[in-house]
Amino acid sequence: MQGKIVKGIAGFYYVHVVESGVYECKAKGTFRKDKIKPLVGDNVEIEVLDESEKTGNIIAILPRMNELIRPAVANIDQALVVFAITKPNPHFNLLDRFLVMMESKEIPVVLCFNKEDIAEDPQVKELKQIYARCGYPLIFTSALKEKNIDSVRKVLKGKTTAIAGPSGVGKSSIINILQPEANMETGTISNKIERGRHTTRHSELFPIDENSYIMDTPGFSSLYVNDFEKEELKYYFPEFAKYEGMCRFHGCDHVHEPGCAVKEAVDAGKIHRIRYQNYIEMYEELKSKRRY
Ligand code: GDP
Ligand code: ZN
Repeated sequence: MQGKIVKGIAGFYYVHVVESGVYECKAKGTFRKDKIKPLVGDNVEIEVLDESEKTGNIIAILPRMNELIRPAVANIDQALVVFAITKPNPHFNLLDRFLVMMESKEIPVVLCFNKEDIAEDPQVKELKQIYARCGYPLIFTSALKEKNIDSVRKVLKGKTTAIAGPSGVGKSSIINILQPEANMETGTISNKIERGRHTTRHSELFPIDENSYIMDTPGFSSLYVNDFEKEELKYYFPEFAKYEGMCRFHGCDHVHEPGCAVKEAVDAGKIHRIRYQNYIEMYEELKSKRRY
């Protein structure tokens, strides 16, 4: 029988099987010899020990599509990155770091900007100007008014999605609408602490319908970029791609080089300056190999 690990606590793995529910399993397979540790998100083969008690053993881990280290999770199809249009205003540097990390892992991103109900038009326009040009799908939502949540539901369908974003932007509110049973608490400080505790203990996937899972991704604010070389960074800014090869110097990193097509595109307003500034900042960081 095949299923997906939705949670792991203290040596037990909780495996969701679409037709029959969740089984509490131990890892017993030969993969243990190979020192492969099951991860939340793994698709696994289980043998059922007791159907009424819903217990079993994991006997095989199916090949992984990808894996993230922090949070430790496998087979993420995409990330839904949630920021508020306002209250709080988007922290562009943080947002771009996250996009770079997902690009480097080849995980597609859908950008969700929430709190549309209290946003001003120019704020929405600016976000479109910056991010539509990079090719990311954008969804503007209001969890409060339940506006455009159906569009979110549509992009999540049939996929495993990591939901990420800083706190206070409305992630829990959106997740609650998507999956009323998750019943995640929103807003108050005591609830935040509760959630913080919950999230440091383990990652968890929530089924929202058949074959669709979401995961709330904690630890987002401590993101850093350091697991690749500075020369690679430019490839993680999709809007730079069409200028590749057009710079005067072969192998141009678009920093201080003269005759740089990317810098010209920035000056001409074709690449957004905020994105470019964040590129330079991350580039310098990788150059000095500063670690967080
Ligand atoms: P999280 O920390 O990202 O999970 O954010 P929460 O879902 O806890 O929401 C943070 C605060 O923003 C709460 O006070 C929510 O009521 C409020 N909020 C969430 N979504 C919206 C929205 O679409 N519009 C407005 N005006 N407030 C929202
Ligand atoms: Zn260049």
